Amino acid sequence: MSPQSNLNSSKTLEGVHGLHVVPHSPFSLEEITQHGDLLSASESSAIESNQQLSVRRVWQQRPGCLRPIQSCIHGDQNFIETAANVLTSLPFIALGIQAPRKNMNTKLYANSLIGVGVASSLYHCSRGKLRKYLRWADYTMIATASVFLSRALRDENSKLLMVASTFLLPIQPLMVSAVHTGMMEVAFAKRALKDPDLRMAHNVHKMSSFLGGAFFIADDVFPKTPFLHAAWHLAAAVGVGTCNKLLE
Ligand SMILES: [Zn+2]
Repeated sequence: MSPQSNLNSSKTLEGVHGLHVVPHSPFSLEEITQHGDLLSASESSAIESNQQLSVRRVWQQRPGCLRPIQSCIHGDQNFIETAANVLTSLPFIALGIQAPRKNMNTKLYANSLIGVGVASSLYHCSRGKLRKYLRWADYTMIATASVFLSRALRDENSKLLMVASTFLLPIQPLMVSAVHTGMMEVAFAKRALKDPDLRMAHNVHKMSSFLGGAFFIADDVFPKTPFLHAAWHLAAAVGVGTCNKLLE
């Protein structure tokens, strides 16, 4: 049926009592809703863009834990805060120097701890465009240290896990840190059960990990509150210090 014949038939039907035919192009897009209503192309595109908007809104309002590294982007607002963040980064360098260096794995871990302190200090001192890259370096260095620690504690870590961790390190440092920190926590708890000398260190470790986690989340939720990030540094340094006991 051509558009012309379509027009003609609608004119014929127009004469029938109570019937009004609205001409439309056979090529226009129509969608049938759940209730059977017809939607024009412009209506459905409006609904589509509305849906896209609401998806975007939900994505923007997702909780901090689902965002890639957001923490401390607003940090270092003044000199005192930067000084606090740099000073609380230095214990990691000291811990790296003191960490046992019995074999290749423990040496790598000790050096990565020094790297954490250096990367963190550089990041907190940085300003401008460089800051974005140093923030990435800071979190990637933390993830690297967590991988080396879990390797130093468990030689039998599967090759696949190590390859996956190495591959994901630069892309998803937080995820890699979480997996390897979790493995370290399990190893620490098991060792503390067997060795009574480690129990005190393990209790301090649990407390500092809990506080560190709380400060890390608080820093993300209340980014304008000063010194939350420095408090996280300190709690993390205490937690890392207790891990060195495991390597002795
Ligand atoms: Zn930091």
